[in-house]
Amino acid sequence: MLGTMALAATHAPPVIAPADAAVSLLDLDQQGCEALVSGWGFKPFHGRNLFKWLHKHGVDAFAAMTDLPTNLRDRLTAEALIRMPRVAAELPSPDGTVKWLLELADGQRVETVHIPEPRRSTLCISSQVGCALACRFCATARQGFNRNLGTGEIISQVRHAVRAGKAPTNLVLMGMGEPLANFDAVVRAIGIMRNDLAYMLAKTRVTLSTSGIVPNIYRLAEVSDVALAVSLHAPDNDLRDLLVPINRKYPLEQLIPACKAYLRGDPRRRITWEYVMLAGVNDSDRQAKALIRLLEGTPSKVNLIPFNPFTDSGFSSSDPERIESFRQRLQRAGLIATTRKTRGDAIAAACGQLVGRVADRSGRRDGAAAAVRGPLP
Ligand code: SF4
Repeated sequence: MLGTMALAATHAPPVIAPADAAVSLLDLDQQGCEALVSGWGFKPFHGRNLFKWLHKHGVDAFAAMTDLPTNLRDRLTAEALIRMPRVAAELPSPDGTVKWLLELADGQRVETVHIPEPRRSTLCISSQVGCALACRFCATARQGFNRNLGTGEIISQVRHAVRAGKAPTNLVLMGMGEPLANFDAVVRAIGIMRNDLAYMLAKTRVTLSTSGIVPNIYRLAEVSDVALAVSLHAPDNDLRDLLVPINRKYPLEQLIPACKAYLRGDPRRRITWEYVMLAGVNDSDRQAKALIRLLEGTPSKVNLIPFNPFTDSGFSSSDPERIESFRQRLQRAGLIATTRKTRGDAIAAACGQLVGRVADRSGRRDGAAAAVRGPLP
């Protein structure tokens, strides 16, 4: 956990513009930058160049934005701000994973995790401070919900990673929070991630993970085609109602059609279903069969995730043999099924543990696992 790791030196926040500056530039997408400078009487292409300096070049000093007119640079210095988070802690793990605890302007903290792999570099970013959705196995849920992140606070996690020499090839919105509960800010940030003047990430390299806010899956389909992952974790409504309570509002008979619609019949696309393996809860052969039936007809990849226990979670992970048996059963039925390699255990960076030393404000601590286990058939 966080408390057991030696913290790397923390860094002072960059002082980039006057504290009372009005415009937070990282909240703006390309069109926003163009509109800003146009509104100040400059040509829109200067806004395009500004956007490129901010993201492609990661430049903080307006004076260094040499292709902007001097009077535009002066105006930016006087009236705009590049607001980057302060690195409150940097926690490297022996397996190469790094977690940053990033402090926002109001003192709230979020976590961003960089996971290096032989052929790719994945950045897991947060979309909210805390989360309201109360998934039973999730450490972040213990915080309760604090607030949404703005676009700038989301994209600044990417910008920070790039400037730290860990430019991602893949981005996953799987950190703290439910991205589809912060729809507009997340969609704008995805646009910046994908923009060729910024981070140039292909649609297949950005994955949004949702617990299943059905109406916003349909909305997302209208404005984006990034990869979609769904926190499934149970093959039937009875169990999912307990593990992922949003299921009571949007049950599987609504969630599955929404996910199918998201794929728009494109045979190259599939939904990634995340399924955390909880010993004695959702890992039986019977549940594997139910999962196969549930996903029949939906282009799918199932990602089995060994549970990373945290204090008082009340759950334990299925053992590796059980996970492999479950996986093979899915595979024999024709599903693509993988087991996620657990990374960053030593820094509590693994999925569902992005909580650190925050206080439990949810009031849901006691009896969570018992509440799940109790009604199991
Ligand atoms: S799993 Fe995701 S949606 Fe569920 S409580 Fe945790 S952060 Fe929120």
